[in-house]
Amino acid sequence: MTKTRKQFGQHWLRSEKALAKIVSSAELSQSDRVLEIGPGTGVLTRQLLTQAQAVVAVEIDRDLCQLLSKKLGQIDHFLLLQGDFLALDVDNLLEPFPEFQRPNKVVANIPYNITGPILEKLLGTIAHPNPNRMDAIVLLVQKEVALRLCANPDSTHFGALSVRVQYLADCEFICDVPAKAFQPPPKVDSAVIRLRPRAIVHPAQSPRHLENLIRAGFLSKRKMLKNNLKSTIDPDRLTEILESLDVNPQARAEDLSVEKWVALSDKILKTTTPAD
Ligand code: SAH
Repeated sequence: MTKTRKQFGQHWLRSEKALAKIVSSAELSQSDRVLEIGPGTGVLTRQLLTQAQAVVAVEIDRDLCQLLSKKLGQIDHFLLLQGDFLALDVDNLLEPFPEFQRPNKVVANIPYNITGPILEKLLGTIAHPNPNRMDAIVLLVQKEVALRLCANPDSTHFGALSVRVQYLADCEFICDVPAKAFQPPPKVDSAVIRLRPRAIVHPAQSPRHLENLIRAGFLSKRKMLKNNLKSTIDPDRLTEILESLDVNPQARAEDLSVEKWVALSDKILKTTTPAD
């Protein structure tokens, strides 16, 4: 068993069932170019290579890269990039390799400690969506994060992350993966999710304003939205706006759907920016 480095969030997936589920959820065809983040010892990589046209893997750990090169280096539709996925300009690095350019799917068992930044790099943000949309992003993530990403507003898991990601992509919870599916087992349970980045269904008039509003609205979890937004908008005015949107004025941030957040942002903008 390859030794693990804690700082890189290394937990090797050893459940055949979980592996099969990840691969099938990616619905791969021979025309897909897959980007894998953190191939580790290459268990998932091997399977991806049997189904995709090309696989680009980005691995930070130099020793693992050596091992992977030895194991998979001869395969001509495999390309390994060594480095920190968050810091690398993958598009730029792929320029000399036309057959690996513009991967259209991401399939990965990622290091959980950088899930947020990885999602942001793949999807962009509300104010700056990534213009190069992947067809599908299949990830193993911490179960708690999976539930948040896929939650509806009536669920206890719905929060700022749900709104931010669901603004940009459809999110599906695929299946649970227990901690014992990994070696060493992480402290948390995991889950497979599939994101499909898409055109924005309800575009905000000012995505920047929406982003700031969400940040302020979710600041204090148990407080009513009205209180969290006190410094942004007069509470009486906010009550009127919420009523006009069919939202209970006592609502908390996590009660509002993505659509309502956009509507709220647009209406607040209208009242605070005088028309000219
Ligand atoms: N996919 C493998 C390993 C998952 S563990 C498996 O399922 O068995 C997470 C992997 O991500 C490790 O190989 C770790 O070295 C790698 N990693 C951690 N941080 C990274 C980063 N910033 N960029 C690229 N790879 C990273």
